[in-house]
Amino acid sequence: MRQGQGRRRAGVAKGVGPSSRLLSALGYEDRALLAPHLAAVQFVRGSMLFDAGDDVVSTHFPCDGTMVSLVVALPDGALAETATVGREGAIGGIVSMGHKPAFARAVVQIGGPALRIDTARLEELKMQSPSLRDTISRYANCLIAQILQSVACNVMHSLEPRFCRWLLMAQDRSGGSLVPLTQEFLAEMLGVQRTTVTAVAASLQARNLIAYARGRITIVDRAGLEAVACGCHDAVVRHFECVLPGVYPLFGGAPA
Ligand SMILES: [Zn+2]
Repeated sequence: MRQGQGRRRAGVAKGVGPSSRLLSALGYEDRALLAPHLAAVQFVRGSMLFDAGDDVVSTHFPCDGTMVSLVVALPDGALAETATVGREGAIGGIVSMGHKPAFARAVVQIGGPALRIDTARLEELKMQSPSLRDTISRYANCLIAQILQSVACNVMHSLEPRFCRWLLMAQDRSGGSLVPLTQEFLAEMLGVQRTTVTAVAASLQARNLIAYARGRITIVDRAGLEAVACGCHDAVVRHFECVLPGVYPLFGGAPA
């Protein structure tokens, strides 16, 4: 991703019945505690929720097919993705537990609905409810696990398995066969040239694992992609299932 992409601030609009799997995992009392403080918003692709150094005053729960990436700006201006967050999670003040400057930039990769709460209010409510505090803490654990796995993956695994892993993560979040991400964007997220991604995508298409047209990728054979992907996706999913059972939106269902 180029420096400067995603400089627009997230647009705010009314949403209709958005669904967060993380919020749905809460008990009735915790959902009732949060409900008066949640505002429905609509994320626009490419918009930025916060940048590194910003005070994180809002926490967002992506809903439905919305996907947000946490990216770190490097000294040479390049951006590196560190984690993706969809309807299984939340973004903003989760690990830091409150109103502290952001270390990474949060950019919307797949637009859609989300629910927003003031981070300070969320912290107050967590103090009132040990079970709410526990669920958010469990998600923070899963988010860190995802980041740790990504570090290992980026160091140890070659591009094609990483590419497949990324497509599986994106499909889990989008919830459909069509993954609305361009090859240019994937190249930025994977830290390689677009021509390199094009070559890998062509190879996967030749094996009938994916199809791409007009800048969009369709996953044709999920099982085939899983066979080519490294084990990093599976490792993160299994950790989610252990720590927050049923919350990760694995496309096609729970792991065996
Ligand atoms: Zn890997």
